[in-house]
Parts: sequence; C-alpha cells; structure tokens
Amino acid sequence: MRLDKDFLTELELWPHFEMRRMAARAEPVTHSPAPAARVARVASVVKAEKKATPAAAIAVQVTADPARALRIAGLEWQALAADAATCKACALCQQRRQVVVGVGAQTAPWLFIGEGPGAEEDESGEPFVGQSGKLLDAMLKAVGLQRGTEVAITNVVKCRPPGNRTPTLDEAAACAPYLDRQIALQQPKLIVALGKTAITRLTGVDAPMASLRGQVHQYQGIPVVATYHPSYLLHKLPEKLKAWEDLLLAKSEMEKTLAGAA
Ligand code: URA
Repeated sequence: MRLDKDFLTELELWPHFEMRRMAARAEPVTHSPAPAARVARVASVVKAEKKATPAAAIAVQVTADPARALRIAGLEWQALAADAATCKACALCQQRRQVVVGVGAQTAPWLFIGEGPGAEEDESGEPFVGQSGKLLDAMLKAVGLQRGTEVAITNVVKCRPPGNRTPTLDEAAACAPYLDRQIALQQPKLIVALGKTAITRLTGVDAPMASLRGQVHQYQGIPVVATYHPSYLLHKLPEKLKAWEDLLLAKSEMEKTLAGAA
C-alpha cells in the first residue's frame, strides 16, 4: 500500500496527516499550510478522544414482528430483493422511489454498512452514488479496495428517510431482518460500519463514534470496525485521517482473519 505524500495528497489526506504528525511531536509549525491554531485544535481533539467515556449500552429492539423476521431469515438473495421491494414495514415506504438493497458481490469478503439511501441512491437504486459515495470510493481506493467483487455495500435502512434525516430506531428495527439476512447470506469476513447508525444497529451501543472507533467489535462472530460516515467527513475534513486509520485497522484485521482461515 502506498503511504507517500503524493498518494495522501491525492486523497486530500496529506495536510491532516502532517498536522497530526506535528501535533504528536509538539513541534512548532515552521511552514504553512497548517496554522498553529489548527495544529493545537487537532491535538486537543486527539486528547478529547482519549478521554471519551465508556459506551452506554442501549437495548435495540431488533424486530417487532418475529414471524416476519423468521420468514425473511429463510429468503435467498432474489427473494429477499423482491420482498424488500414491496416492504411496508415502516413509514419510509411512503416516499421512496425505490428500495436500495445493496451493491457488490454476494460473496464479497468485505461488507460496508451505511445509514440509509439519500436522494441520488433513491433515484438510482444503488447505495453511495452521491457525494458521500464518491468519498467512500476514494477511501476504499486509499486502502487498495474497490466496490464490486471484494466490497459489498448496503445500508441499515433500505428506503430513503425524508430529507436524509437519520433513521429512527424503529425504522432500523423494521429493516433489521433484511440486513441480518444479507449478512447471513454473504458471510463477510469483516464489516465496516459507516457512522453511528450502523454501529449502533450492530452492537446495540449508543455512544459517540470517538469511543467506538479504533477497536474491533463483533457481530454474530464477524469482526466489525466502526468509522465516521463519509457524509460527516465531507464537512469535517480533519477527521478523514482518522477514517483512513480505521480502514487500516480493518485491513489488518482482515489479514489476520484470512491468515487464521488458511
Ligand atoms: N448515505 C448512506 O448512509 N447511504 C447511502 O447509500 C448514501 C448516503
């Protein structure tokens, strides 16, 4: 994997990488582009993260309708897509153009899980095709991955929440049988949870992302790494470096998993 300046610059990561390095060394800034105040801010964010309080566990009700969940748990890929296409289990069905089930190979070793489709995804039927999708593709490229054969992508909810709001716990619960079945069918070697909605859905823990990233969680025996949602990163550029570090953690966990299976 290339970690040189040109490559990091291509991904707009270089300034953040350099700021972090300088903050860690507590060196004075001798040249732009990072004014001292920004370096100090990065350093204080790093400190604040270390002090993050332990996660509070919350109960996520996975489904209100066990019979429906049981039925979906028996569906194969095609039947699952057909079932989801006519789903009316929550109010999100009322404004959707189409259900966005996922993209990528059915046997891909990686599964990235976002929050829910936005306007462009609702229009195209594919997850992460808008601005945040472009950033996700760049993040994947940064660690030598690509959506398709090796990376499948889906969301916690398959229908667009109006105005791109965060899905409610009830909406996530109504869609849970589909996500659970997708995971059971795909059997990914590793899951990357993009944002709080995804990691809360998988772990039942509602806590700041700062306290959930940087560690390996488990979902049904599958390792899960959490990172910031790409649309958050579009507005918080300095956090991009942390997302990149999270993907490196995911990559090394995947290597361990593959080595263990060999
Ligand atoms: N945001 C998501 O969480 N998922 C998408 O598919 C697009 C944007």
